[in-house]
Formats: sequence, structure tokens, C-alpha cells
Amino acid sequence: NDEEASAKAAAASADSGGPTIFDKIIAKEIPSSIVYEDEKVLAFRDINPQAPVHVLVIPKFRNGLTQLSKAEPKHTEILGHLLHAAKVVAEKEGIMDRFRVVINNGPGACQSVYHLHLHVLGGRQMKWPPG
Ligand code: IMP
Repeated sequence: NDEEASAKAAAASADSGGPTIFDKIIAKEIPSSIVYEDEKVLAFRDINPQAPVHVLVIPKFRNGLTQLSKAEPKHTEILGHLLHAAKVVAEKEGIMDRFRVVINNGPGACQSVYHLHLHVLGGRQMKWPPG
């Protein structure tokens, strides 16, 4: 089924450190639906939404942060900035009392794009535990 196929596709990918589709989104070479932007981060709607609100928040400069497991002390400022931007997105989207922030790390967690990103999900009742 679709779910198994997407899990397999994600599991087939790995962190090459190479460019990703998000570079083109940041450069505005491919269009995206931008929800929030500042000098450090970009937030745009996920192309395959898993909830009525599904926004990705990414650093504009990846700086080695292909995935959260690559985080180092030098990244703490941008990591905090990303979380704050997630809250701003939730506020803008009107889901402040019911949103979830997710980071998929590595093939076993279905990470498919190796440029750190936060998923901000909401607009429906979220279930626990996530799959
Ligand atoms: P991951 O599986 O946690 O790595 O999340 C990557 C996300 O990027 C997925 O939810 C995809 O739907 C999303 N995505 C991939 N390409 C695009 C795009 O071009 N625009 C918007 N979202 C994208």
C-alpha cells in the first residue's frame, strides 16, 4: 500500500550531504507556498500534506545540518530559531492550541530530504503515539 511504499522510499534514501530540493525552494527556483520567512529560516507548505496544516520550517543555510543527528554546539542558535519559527507558523495558521512539531531523523524515521526541517502539523485532532 501507499504507506509501505513511502516508508520503503524513505528508507532507500540516506544522507549524502549533497544538494537537495530545498536548495531550489530557498533560491525560489521552484515555487513554494511560503507561510513565513526571515533572514535565517523559510517556512512553506508541504507538497504532500498529512494534516490540514502541514508546513515545513527549514534553515536557509544548511551548514552541515542535513539531519538533527548532525547537530553540534555551533547549531544551537539556528535550532532555537527554527523552533520559534514553528510557533510563529502555528500562530499564523490559527492552530496554537493544537499543533505538533516533528523532525524525522534518518531512513528508519522516514527522513527523505537531507536538509534539516521541522514539520508543523495541525488543523485536526492529532493522534498519539505517532506511527
Ligand atoms: P521528511 O520525510 O521528514 O524528510 O520530509 C520531507 C518532506 O518534504 C515530505 O513531507 C515531502 O512531502 C516534502 N517535500 C518534498 N519535496 C517538496 C517540495 O518540492 N515542496 C514542498 N514539500 C516537499
